[in-house]
Amino acid sequence: MPGSAIQESLRGRGVRLTRQRLLLLELIDNSGLHLDAESLYQMAKARDSKLNRVTVYRTLKMLKEGGLVDELDLAHFEGEKHYYETRLKQEHAHVICLRCGKVEEFFGEPLQRLRRQIESHFGFQILLARTEVGGYCSHCQSLRAREMEQAVREPSEHHALTEPDGHRPRAKRPA
Ligand SMILES: [Zn+2]
Ligand SMILES: [Zn+2]
Repeated sequence: MPGSAIQESLRGRGVRLTRQRLLLLELIDNSGLHLDAESLYQMAKARDSKLNRVTVYRTLKMLKEGGLVDELDLAHFEGEKHYYETRLKQEHAHVICLRCGKVEEFFGEPLQRLRRQIESHFGFQILLARTEVGGYCSHCQSLRAREMEQAVREPSEHHALTEPDGHRPRAKRPA
């Protein structure tokens, strides 16, 4: 959406669009990704060095409350981190790999159908719907299979694999 259209729709909601708000909104709209607040802050700062973290976080909160961006936790893949994406996209499900963190977006009629079913079943008016699916991507499935094979074949080497510094876990002393 061009800046003027965003401004128009915001004015309709009684939200004043400052330069910083517009900048963040553009970054989120244009990226098409799911960016966390810190990454957005770094990107915004590269465009406007006067921006500070507090302003960026406050602006994100405002954009969320204004219904312009969605805040996601993506199955808490990275703990309490939140991610932001544009609300201009069609409704979609997030498919998150819990091993490598890759996020895929599933668009399609089944989601619209589910929404209609829920609305008619409960006589409910849905304002927002969020679908998150966590699991392992095909790449990580094969990596995990290989790791497990290795663990069975060479149990001691598997320990070295799971210890990033290469140290073997020390044997526990009897208490
Ligand atoms: Zn993966
Ligand atoms: Zn998304």
